[in-house]
Amino acid sequence: MKEFAYQHATQVHEALTAVARNAGARYLGGGTNLVDLMKCGVEEPTRLVDVRRLPLDGVQVAPDGGLVIGATTTNSDAAAHPEVRRRFPALAQAVLAGASGQLRNMATVGGNLLQRTRCGYFTDLSSPCNKRIPGSGCAAIEGVHHNHAILGHTAHCVATHPSDLAVALCAFDAVVRYETLDGTGEIPLEQFYLPVDDRPDRETALPPGALITAVVLPGSAHTPRSCYRKVRERASYAFATVSVAAALDIRDGVVRDVRVALGGVASHPWRARTAEAVLRDARPTAELFRAAAEAELSTARPLRDNGYKVALARNLVGAVLGGLAATEGNR
Ligand SMILES: Cc1cc2nc3c(=O)[nH]c(=O)nc-3n(C[C@H](O)[C@H](O)[C@H](O)COP(=O)(O)OP(=O)(O)OC[C@H]3O[C@@H](n4cnc5c(N)ncnc54)[C@H](O)[C@@H]3O)c2cc1C
Ligand code: SF4
Repeated sequence: MKEFAYQHATQVHEALTAVARNAGARYLGGGTNLVDLMKCGVEEPTRLVDVRRLPLDGVQVAPDGGLVIGATTTNSDAAAHPEVRRRFPALAQAVLAGASGQLRNMATVGGNLLQRTRCGYFTDLSSPCNKRIPGSGCAAIEGVHHNHAILGHTAHCVATHPSDLAVALCAFDAVVRYETLDGTGEIPLEQFYLPVDDRPDRETALPPGALITAVVLPGSAHTPRSCYRKVRERASYAFATVSVAAALDIRDGVVRDVRVALGGVASHPWRARTAEAVLRDARPTAELFRAAAEAELSTARPLRDNGYKVALARNLVGAVLGGLAATEGNR
């Protein structure tokens, strides 16, 4: 690991200034991803600006019934908060499906959104990787890629995004709030992660030096009936093979509103807009759920060894929607 300077910031302006003034400076949340990447030489910051003492911790209920979750709130605190569990149960389930208890105690909401891909070639400095070194190639396309993307990938990168939290936030139309020295800004989560295109090293729409200060979840009457399910290679402590976050509002025997997002299938959380359009205003049956999933997956382009994810995603969407339809409030 290369030598680096370290400082704690206690005010947002202090953190922004420290990063703006020092080329190579980075914010440090819980360090559970950044420090790992420093150890293997993928990241080489010259200064770490620790954000955990900034006044950005905690969960507030917004006037519209939504939530504002501070960026330095730990994953454990976010998942345990009674209003998160009550208003957005899929969000609490998603966070609890990630990592381990120790990691969740350290990891912050802001850091979770900005964690890097778990593609093995990304952290193997001897392999070509366009995300690590633009233009060097992609070892995964012809290499080990059974857990890589089936949607939205390009010949430049086929990696998936690892965050469970981001999948639930995507389903709930969350907005990422940030601060720069020029002021405050907001980006809908659905536009926060950039499409892969030919520059997989450019991952988010955050302006340079921006500090994430919160995620904002708009209030919604039916998100209390939501669910997150994650399929993975081990029962715990493993990233998603495929995951689904969904909320379903059925009234008078018809789907009035629905949200579906997929994880583990693309370089970013995949909002299943095509499936939602099939479901809206239709009678909720197992056939409809299957048709919606099939419509969403019709654009899937599996790689040599990950075609199984298409059937898995299709079945998981059907199972999650079927489970939600069977719950008390949706009969
Ligand atoms: C063994 C293991 C298993 C895991 N399993 C899962 C899993 O199943 N699901 C899952 O979702 N995650 C999983 N994780 C990832 C874990 O959730 C992330 O490492 C963690 O959420 C990152 O948060 P952090 O605060 O530690 O980020 P850090 O490592 O501190 O930072 C990550 C990035 O975010 C930047 N950053 C941090 N805070 C801010 C901010 N406020 N504004 C702007 N930039 C900021 C940093 O500069 C850095 O680039 C796992 C991690 C490990 C090590
Ligand atoms: S899939 Fe993306 S992260 Fe993995 S080797 Fe290819 S370019 Fe790198």
